[in-house]
Amino acid sequence: MEHNLGNSSLKVGDMEFPPRKVWMKTYGCQMNYHDTERIMSHLSELNFTKTDQQSDADLVIFNTCAVRDLANQKFYSHLGETKKLKNISSTSSLGELKKNVIVAAGGCIAQTEGKELISKYKQLDFAFGTDVIDNIGEMVYRAYAGEKKFSVTSWDKSENYSIETKITQGSPMAFVNIIKGCDKFCSYCIVPFTRGREKSRRLEEVVKDVKRLVEYSGVQEVMLLGQNVNSFGKENGESLAQLIMELDRIEGLQRLRYTTSHPYDVTDDLVEAHKSAKKLANHLHLPVQSGSNTVLQRMLREYTIEHYLGLIEKMRKANPEMIISTDIIAGFPNETEEEHEATLKLLDDAQFDFIYAYAYSSRKGTKASRMNDVLNDDIRGRRLREIQEKQLKIQANIRQQMVGKTYRILVEEKGLSKGVLKWTGRTSCSRLVHFEPPVADQDFQWHWVDVEILSATALSTQGKIIKDHGKTL
Ligand code: SF4
Repeated sequence: MEHNLGNSSLKVGDMEFPPRKVWMKTYGCQMNYHDTERIMSHLSELNFTKTDQQSDADLVIFNTCAVRDLANQKFYSHLGETKKLKNISSTSSLGELKKNVIVAAGGCIAQTEGKELISKYKQLDFAFGTDVIDNIGEMVYRAYAGEKKFSVTSWDKSENYSIETKITQGSPMAFVNIIKGCDKFCSYCIVPFTRGREKSRRLEEVVKDVKRLVEYSGVQEVMLLGQNVNSFGKENGESLAQLIMELDRIEGLQRLRYTTSHPYDVTDDLVEAHKSAKKLANHLHLPVQSGSNTVLQRMLREYTIEHYLGLIEKMRKANPEMIISTDIIAGFPNETEEEHEATLKLLDDAQFDFIYAYAYSSRKGTKASRMNDVLNDDIRGRRLREIQEKQLKIQANIRQQMVGKTYRILVEEKGLSKGVLKWTGRTSCSRLVHFEPPVADQDFQWHWVDVEILSATALSTQGKIIKDHGKTL
């Protein structure tokens, strides 16, 4: 690759790449958001910069999610709207349109339905799956070389999963993939079909990667990512607990988080890591999905509620500062009132700090989608509301206990709340805290600050700044 910095054009192979703009839309989980960042990093090597205006883009990319119905519907509606972009005319409702805009769809829906998408949507130039995002440069090259309507959804057949983390935003927080895919095949979940089987990076490679991020990119907080991070390293005789203890030793790294966990694979070593690793956040997101053992069986979750409660008790004993959050599915097929009541009871027993609750929605191709289901949307909606209402009360009580205490947060962004400018950051236990700057235009972006909590509700926590440590601790 040859950079022609003088005229800001770039020669790649036989083709000139003038400066171009890419607009991207991401749906779904943190893995997808991280993939989007990776895609952007590859595209910058083809002279692309990001734009927030779709009408200003030369390249439009959707990074799709197949897990939630809402994300699914939004994608199809947003893709439908891009028809306008392909009506090449000098003006339209979007104003001046660029000629030859390229539209692509990647991610989980593209992995399973890439070919159908390409043939159904005229405006779509190419589709690419979850395992080929590191080849995005090649696909964009093919599109600019004139290749039309192709789909790349092959699986990475290499034995090892080996990558280097790519970051583009200059922030001190980085997502680091440590494992991809999932072998669990929970009966409602499409992920094993869209992300493939589990494959871990080697522990040594991840440690080197994080050291490099800390040393050369100023990264201070790392989120280890995977569909089931607790399976990390199984095939190599390594483990998440070992990785955490190694990363804990890296000088300059301040905080370490990981997501997502599966209760079946949480080991005693990991519990111990939450006690001894100084940089590991005091937070565990541990999806439970239901409070009923019979529903858990139908979900093929491989644990009982007693096992789950035992785990969180161990965690809290090992580290009394620890907070636990979870995911819950309301109205799994044929869930009875008693089974739903068991989930409401679990909320009391577990005292989660926060939950993500969803009404069950069927995903084509999963075991649950083939169950003869007697529930309807009204029942699911009512059960979801009951779960959310109960949790909000529990949450409000828990958050009240923060008032008067001081927490260290890494400030992420500012925004207007009822017309008042506030900065927002996250505690080690992942709670969002808002505070007003003492001086209106004071910049706290990416500062570590100590904040005393003045008031708290179920959903928001307000504080006042006690000490500004600046950008590094
Ligand atoms: S553990 Fe279950 S819910 Fe999570 S990604 Fe794997 S199959 Fe899906």
